[in-house]
Amino acid sequence: MVAIDLVLRRDWNARAPRGDYTQLDSTKGVKVHYTGGRVDEAIVGDHGRCAALVRSIQAHHMDGNGWIDIGYSYVACPHRKVFEGRGLHHLPAANGPGLNAGHYAVLGLVGNSGLVRPPDGILHAVVDAIEFVRKNGSAGKEIKGHRDGYATDCPGEPLYAWVRRGAPRPAGGGDDGGGGGPTAPPFPGRLLSYPPVTRGQDVRTWQTQMRRRGWELAVDGAYGPESREVCRSFQRQQNVSDDGIVGPITWRLTWEA
Ligand SMILES: [Zn+2]
Ligand SMILES: [Zn+2]
Repeated sequence: MVAIDLVLRRDWNARAPRGDYTQLDSTKGVKVHYTGGRVDEAIVGDHGRCAALVRSIQAHHMDGNGWIDIGYSYVACPHRKVFEGRGLHHLPAANGPGLNAGHYAVLGLVGNSGLVRPPDGILHAVVDAIEFVRKNGSAGKEIKGHRDGYATDCPGEPLYAWVRRGAPRPAGGGDDGGGGGPTAPPFPGRLLSYPPVTRGQDVRTWQTQMRRRGWELAVDGAYGPESREVCRSFQRQQNVSDDGIVGPITWRLTWEA
């Protein structure tokens, strides 16, 4: 069981809701959504763009639709992070009139152009959100699409086909307990490099795993000259380009090689 990687409202600079939420004691389950518009594929390489996109959706819902807040309960991004929307026990607005009390609303950050096929990180994050609202928000077992009972294309063909299959976790995706070797956690979505010093929890995660592998380096969450040198040595050992930058390949090898 992987803990959910929540992006709290203050962490994505959410605007405060304009009014009180309607309390929601329990739901039959979850309805899955997509944005319905274009999603720039660049979000896959830059989690900062995910946050900007979520803020723009909130602005559209509040200023365009006149809702008190973003219409979704949670938003799943390609980096297997789950943005807190209206949250637990609050009536969403995205399912359509008369349909909101039945299900929490979870958005996957794909659209009808640009990023159309959900990367594994989004699918995992949607399942993380579903498990979270079942455990903590009295959600029932149903997993449906927005189009179930409402005239819309949402959540788009790829996501809806996945929902119809029962929203399975992608193969090889971490906590499915399946066979095979160790699996790297999802790539953080940015390059760990120096200079300048890159700081963050993702750096600490990488450093911790390198220490486990036996490399001598400080686990301080700061990717500076020492981390770069260790990275270069590791890359040479693995016969990949020794640029001293932790990108998706080096990240994966750190766990799976
Ligand atoms: Zn929808
Ligand atoms: Zn993201």
